[in-house]
Amino acid sequence: MENKSSSNFLKSIIDEDLKSGKVDHIITRFPPEPNGYLHIGHAKSIVLNFELADEFKGKTHLRFDDTNPAKEDTEYVESIKEDVLWLGYEWDDLFFASDYFEEMYNRAVLLIKKGKAYACDSTVEEIRQMRGSLIEVGQSSPYRDRSVEENLALFERMRQGEFKDGQKVLRAKIDMSSPNINMRDPVLYRIAHLTHHNTGDKWCIYPMYGFAHPLEDAIEGVTHSICTLEFEDQRPLYEWVIRECEMENIPHQYEFARLNITNTVMSKRKLKQLVDNLLVDGWNDPRMPTISGLRRRGYTADAIRNFAREIGVAKADSVVDTKMLEYFIREDLKLKAPRTMAVLEPLKVVITNYPEDQVEMLDAENNSENPEMGTRQIPFSREVYIEQDDFTENPPAKYHRLFPGNEVRLKNAYFIKCNNIVKDKAGKVIELQCTYDPETKSGSGFTGRKVKGTIHWVEASQAVPAEFRLYEALILDEDMTDEASFLEHINPNSLEILHGFVEPNIKDSKPQDKFQFFRHGYFNVDSSNTPLGQLVFNRIVSLKSSFESK
Ligand code: ATP
Ligand code: MG
Repeated sequence: MENKSSSNFLKSIIDEDLKSGKVDHIITRFPPEPNGYLHIGHAKSIVLNFELADEFKGKTHLRFDDTNPAKEDTEYVESIKEDVLWLGYEWDDLFFASDYFEEMYNRAVLLIKKGKAYACDSTVEEIRQMRGSLIEVGQSSPYRDRSVEENLALFERMRQGEFKDGQKVLRAKIDMSSPNINMRDPVLYRIAHLTHHNTGDKWCIYPMYGFAHPLEDAIEGVTHSICTLEFEDQRPLYEWVIRECEMENIPHQYEFARLNITNTVMSKRKLKQLVDNLLVDGWNDPRMPTISGLRRRGYTADAIRNFAREIGVAKADSVVDTKMLEYFIREDLKLKAPRTMAVLEPLKVVITNYPEDQVEMLDAENNSENPEMGTRQIPFSREVYIEQDDFTENPPAKYHRLFPGNEVRLKNAYFIKCNNIVKDKAGKVIELQCTYDPETKSGSGFTGRKVKGTIHWVEASQAVPAEFRLYEALILDEDMTDEASFLEHINPNSLEILHGFVEPNIKDSKPQDKFQFFRHGYFNVDSSNTPLGQLVFNRIVSLKSSFESK
């Protein structure tokens, strides 16, 4: 395999094709099979196809490659359209491969008439065995020399439903000793008595990918047909079909590396297993690498597009670290998302020297890195919640948060000092009694003393209850090259649910509103499955990362 790794090898090809007059405009396509929801790997292909067309003032088709009714469904068609639009791309034309079934059938008849295709009675297993191997030529089918008349009649009867599934196939007659196994009389049509989501019961024979795909591209006038590397060996068949079927438009196939990401599986078929086995909350579970899952998690279309552009198009397969995807959502939200405080695991703090019926409003910046986002007012009173984690009775060395006798700053508010601990019968700390120092108000210019720790908090009487869902990778293995056993590598701790509080300012948040919760990371309001009136926040990503963009 050639190892040309340039982020724009496709651009160079198109550029030359336009300059040399090989084409006078370009058409690309994104051709998903509607057998599942789109994932981040598809996003790479979408960004590539739409943006190439855009750059060279061409067109992009969205084409549903719906030639296998066993697995396809209109639910998937609808979700795919929604996801492409959400990513920010509008197709110039929308097509269904199934609309070409009649034309494909006619092209197959043409092949038969030219002596280039024949009906074969061999079983799938026999065909596989006779195909040979890399070191062994294939054996010819005993049906290879049927006459044109007989083949035409049999193919017609296949279409009429006279045979059962698997009883016959139509095969190309190419070369059983070709060094490329794909050229050893590949199957073009198979019998499948199935109802198709688009054509209903009209057909009981369906074209195979290797035959259908080049015809689809040619019928639509696609010029640059971009697919993933595993189809490189199929390119000679692609070209054979275009040539022998005497197609007017001649598309060319180009391959680029599939996107793989650490700790995930990237195939609709496998993702469907997670859904079907109820290991996740549907295709849009925020842990899924699907576009809809990433959206529900809180990823923005901008972040996904920027990620896809950065990884570029390579000619060699590689696995991209999830951290890189996380980097792009942090970058996108850094200056956009309001920053507020949320307490995920609350511990009540009573400030014993604060007036009992007083609530004061304090100024807080909405985004310390983006002053344009202004300020808000947050309530402060005698009772606040802090994180359980921000207190310990027995502090280790260098612990700068709250412990008995220690003083910390409450972000945007005052210094407080812990004087007393209240425990329940089981010995669990349930309340802290603290005092505050009115001199230390944030923004007051107080310089008297310094404290080493600043912690976040939410005022208790106006705190808004909320659920927080924290995610980890769904799959534990870093190396998923052996994806076969991925179901055994499911991370049992991929979801943690906590109940705490957010500031009253964000109580009316709507699904898809995004925030940075001080010290916790970026969160998105969940869009489904939320108990009535209950705010649910999905953590998109924590604040820290070790990844740096190049
Ligand atoms: P899956 O196994 O997930 O179903 P697929 O390749 O069979 O993937 P299709 O629906 O046929 O999925 O793909 C539509 C387009 O998306 C194809 O052009 C394919 O090359 C591209 N594509 C799919 N997965 C990836 C990936 N991981 N990286 C880059 N492109 C991809
Ligand atoms: Mg597929």
